[in-house]
Amino acid sequence: MDFSLLPQIAIQCLLGASAIVFTELVRDAYHIAGHYWQPLKRGHNLHHKAYRPDLTITSLEMYQKAQLNNDVPEAIAMLGAAAILAACTQLPVLWIGCLYSLVFLIPAVARSQGLLLQTDVTHKPGDLIELPKPWIVNRTYHWRHHFDDQNAYYCGHFTIVDKLLGTSLALKGKTVAITGASGALGQALIAELSKHGAKVVALTTSDRAFAEGIEVLHWQIGAEEELRSRLQKVDIFILNHGVNVYGDRTPAAIQTSYEVNTFSTWRLAELFLETVTESSHKALKELWINTSEAEVNPALSPLYELSKRALGDLITLRRLDAPCIIRKLVLGPFKSQLNPYGVMSASGVAWAIVALAKRDFRDIIVTINPITYILFPIKEFFQSLYFRLFSK
Ligand SMILES: [Zn+2]
Ligand SMILES: [Zn+2]
Repeated sequence: MDFSLLPQIAIQCLLGASAIVFTELVRDAYHIAGHYWQPLKRGHNLHHKAYRPDLTITSLEMYQKAQLNNDVPEAIAMLGAAAILAACTQLPVLWIGCLYSLVFLIPAVARSQGLLLQTDVTHKPGDLIELPKPWIVNRTYHWRHHFDDQNAYYCGHFTIVDKLLGTSLALKGKTVAITGASGALGQALIAELSKHGAKVVALTTSDRAFAEGIEVLHWQIGAEEELRSRLQKVDIFILNHGVNVYGDRTPAAIQTSYEVNTFSTWRLAELFLETVTESSHKALKELWINTSEAEVNPALSPLYELSKRALGDLITLRRLDAPCIIRKLVLGPFKSQLNPYGVMSASGVAWAIVALAKRDFRDIIVTINPITYILFPIKEFFQSLYFRLFSK
């Protein structure tokens, strides 16, 4: 084999892959135009009318019309754009974009005639089985575009455009419950989530007053079970409460740290996961857990670190087969009652958490410590792999 050709082959492969990504970007642009640009709206509306929530078709006639007026022209737009790109750049390998478009155009034409219906894989009828994937659009991901929020989840194959636009997670109309609601971050998250149209339920163990319109639930450590019926109707549950005993190392401090930071959070997490009972819950329900930067870095408070690390490890283990998306909030020092010397503001951290969640980050790292951005993903990857290999 002539190894001198390797760089050339690598460049051609890269160009070919770019042509496919480009064609997918055209698909997503066409789709977004279908929601906002009048000439395409009518055809795209048919697409939305063609399916029921279990993704069975409303009628064969409507389905065929939708294919003819939406899916076929969308594939033609992809084909046309790919051809223009290849012709303008004079790079033969870019014609792969055209071949790729034909893979969608031909079945779409067939489906518009009532044939090859099984090729419509993102709309395959039946219960949702997988969780939404972070980088590739699967049925559960796309289901949310139809039945959660039509102004989000636009992507057709790769999730890049939704990540750029911040449309990978819609908060509008969602019921979001949050523990530690009286604390600085809790308050800031309530304000930020409300701004994005979420209905917030504040869970607190204190008597603090909340803004008007916020549902407040009082709860106690050890009495988590009492929240079960309310959690049934919650879409996103944010576990954010915690305690910091600082330098205390008495048996009572050990007990308190683990009971609050690890076990009460753990019990609430399991309670919420048990409410994931319907097919749609796989798409809509989410658990966010504030495990803190203490998972990988010192927090100058040994028992805070120990109890938060134990929680973080348990979540890594549980995430391997969780019934809904679990996001970790890996946060650096922000100003709060727990940490008066925090350097970040709680409102800035809350803004970043929501911005990253809307871009479907499963591990939401917000800190000023650059080491965490490197250490945490490495730790999470290897620990997750270790747990996968040695547990079942
Ligand atoms: Zn669709
Ligand atoms: Zn649409």
